[in-house]
Amino acid sequence: MDRLWDRVLDVLKGSLDVKNFSAWIAPLRQVQATKSHLRLAAPNKTVRKWFIDHYLARATETLRLIAGREMTIEIELAHAQMTFDKSVITPAPVREEPPRPPANSPLPNENYTFENFVVGQSNEFAYAACKNVAKNPGGGMNPLFIFGGTGLGKTHLLNALAVQLLKRRPDQRLVIIPAERFMNELISAIQSKRTAAFHKKYRNLDALLIDDIQTIAGKHATQEEFFHTFNTLYENDAQIVLASDKYPKDIEGLEERLRSRFGMGMIADIQPPELETRIAIVRKKAAAENVSLPEDVVFYIAAHIKNNVRELEGALRRVAAFGELHEGRVNLDLARRVLRQVVGDPDKAISIEQIQRSVCEFYHVRHNDLIGARKHKSIARPRQVAMYLARRLTGASLPDIGEKFGNRDHTTVLHAVRKMDALSKEDPQLTMALETLEKTLKA
Ligand code: ADP
Ligand code: MG
Repeated sequence: MDRLWDRVLDVLKGSLDVKNFSAWIAPLRQVQATKSHLRLAAPNKTVRKWFIDHYLARATETLRLIAGREMTIEIELAHAQMTFDKSVITPAPVREEPPRPPANSPLPNENYTFENFVVGQSNEFAYAACKNVAKNPGGGMNPLFIFGGTGLGKTHLLNALAVQLLKRRPDQRLVIIPAERFMNELISAIQSKRTAAFHKKYRNLDALLIDDIQTIAGKHATQEEFFHTFNTLYENDAQIVLASDKYPKDIEGLEERLRSRFGMGMIADIQPPELETRIAIVRKKAAAENVSLPEDVVFYIAAHIKNNVRELEGALRRVAAFGELHEGRVNLDLARRVLRQVVGDPDKAISIEQIQRSVCEFYHVRHNDLIGARKHKSIARPRQVAMYLARRLTGASLPDIGEKFGNRDHTTVLHAVRKMDALSKEDPQLTMALETLEKTLKA
């Protein structure tokens, strides 16, 4: 089998700029892989730091998808002995568990349970739906479709449900698997002419939980196979649970027959957590990691990281790690300094004028043109970028922004915001421009 890191590299290679990839990622080498850790060696400190600051989160996420479980990446310097990075906190060691049927499917991650999931308005419905399925699998909520943005707890809930189901009936045939892995297994089954075994494995289950089901979009063979798997399981009253970062109707490239099946049972969404929930999450995670944080620091972290619980955890870990370096003294000042590296200066107010200045500089256009009437692409794009950033980074309303751009109508601003939003998903150059500008503005 390929080394884990090589498989991560394959995926990252496809999604990153070639130059960045070869400068910062390709030089890292796998040293060791255990159940919960992947240890890498970097050729020097610069590569190591740059990788940690810019790519660690992404690589960890990719690794998790490939390994099918939570894993921590540690980076040491080549030749130096075991210099662990302080900003990476090692999770509790994973217990060895007895094998469960069916063989060779990944086990649920037992760190994710219902008990350590913080329930608030934003996620209570999805939580309740999972609890309900745990009690009554194959019952009224079949399939259960959980959807929500990145880092909001879908994988956590899916695992918690699997753990609970197995606790109630340890001998059941349950598979919990990321869709990507389902797909890879299918591909290798086809290549090695072992599709019968594949069918047997997936069509004779009591419960099938598939994470990140949106990734099968556009993959014809996988959708075809999954369609039949789904039907067979459904007819047998096996429980099906799917997690996705999009609502079924918003998954582009998903076949209609699957789309309609995904909506047949219960659809439960998870929204970004509200402030109280974020505070509760920070408290709970801090307690779980034995970190004691003053209340103002808890509040500060929760107030500034809003849309992603994974980032919230990352921020907490960073603050805690820096606290350790400072003899355990975590205070608001330290938290501010640490978080500035993560989210830019969260307290800094950014004005529309500043945005316009930075955009002009970045694209080499004149301010008069930026707010003027010219429609040529060379000026229309910077203008849209500036409007988009104004919307994202200031509290200004659409009409306010329109006014600062030569008294344009608010619908023009809205159009620009939507367009940049959509384009940035497919245009890496634009994404980079937006990120660079945002960073400059927040610095
Ligand atoms: P998703 O699959 O939606 O991208 P995850 O389930 O991987 O997100 O969650 C990201 C991280 O945030 C995980 O470590 C998870 O434990 C944590 N998390 C998310 N929501 C909650 C919550 N409500 N309570 C506690 N931890 C949470
Ligand atoms: Mg997930």
